[in-house]
Amino acid sequence: MSEKRDYYEVLNVARDADARTIKKAYRKVALEFHPDRNPDDPEAERRFKEAAEAYDALGDEEKRAIYDRYGHEGLRGGGMRAGGVEDILERMSDIFGGDVFSDLFGFGGRRNRGPRKGKDLGYRLGLTFEEAVFGCKKTLEIPRDETCGTCGGTGAKPGSSPVVCPRCNGRGQIDINQGLLMMRMTCDVCGGTGKVIRDICPTCSGKGSVRQIVQVELNIPAGVDSGSRIRKPGEGLPGEAGPGDLIVIIQVDDHERYQRDDVDLHVEESVDFVTAALGGEVEVETLDGTQTMRVEPGAQPGDVVRLPGLGVASLSGGRRGDFYAHLRVPVPKRLNRKQRKALEEFRSAGEDA
Ligand SMILES: [Zn+2]
Ligand SMILES: [Zn+2]
Repeated sequence: MSEKRDYYEVLNVARDADARTIKKAYRKVALEFHPDRNPDDPEAERRFKEAAEAYDALGDEEKRAIYDRYGHEGLRGGGMRAGGVEDILERMSDIFGGDVFSDLFGFGGRRNRGPRKGKDLGYRLGLTFEEAVFGCKKTLEIPRDETCGTCGGTGAKPGSSPVVCPRCNGRGQIDINQGLLMMRMTCDVCGGTGKVIRDICPTCSGKGSVRQIVQVELNIPAGVDSGSRIRKPGEGLPGEAGPGDLIVIIQVDDHERYQRDDVDLHVEESVDFVTAALGGEVEVETLDGTQTMRVEPGAQPGDVVRLPGLGVASLSGGRRGDFYAHLRVPVPKRLNRKQRKALEEFRSAGEDA
């Protein structure tokens, strides 16, 4: 077996390269030796796997530190998980996002391995505080590329059909000689599909899809928060093996009164200084309407009164959060004569004691 190559050399980066540079370098090498671009080429497959292994080590701060100190020896045993090409491809889409394949081919992310599902479609949805807390129904209007009804997605004029690409003879790839080097590239005439359209569909101009505004009904459960994701299967972009999913990402507006912390709510509640001193009951507005809370005698500004179970519903189905009133005790700026007199008596009462 041949000697293991240095990981930095594999990715062609300097030893002090930062994380971003390493990631970029991995992407470059992985795309160069990608199995779809180099079908049935064992050397390319070996380089592809080698790059994945190198990135697995250098892309992880801890492993990289070990590798820097002890080399390959240090990572023995703790190295890569399963090394199949499919696993690597899977991980690559985690690392680079689903677009890695469309970058590779420049057309919709199609790979050689049979029909693929359409892409997922992301959608940002803004909600008011109340909509998020209580849940709601929404009708989303989503601009989406739909399969063209005139040509059924082929892009060819009805009655005609795509023909085999004359440039690549249907292979989707062409070989270009550059001196001694031969490079294999995606066919520039058919874009890799292996087919070209003679008579273009008048509705979609040959694209096979038309941009439409589609209405999608969405049930939003009580308790969603900013960053919550709701997946709506089958509402993404069309694909040969069925459409992808719609991923709705929630963004919740702030509320002028309530501060939300996951399922708990916090409010500032003013209590008059007499009630704070003597204790008593105070009415407070909550999500469940007006509630009475008990203020203990001698309450101080900043004291917190907890109303259990009056917070936000839990998305995971657990118990509701709590409601926390943070007490403010404002000192009155004006007093009428009677009040002033009462307070002066209060003061002298203190001196008597
Ligand atoms: Zn069409
Ligand atoms: Zn072609």
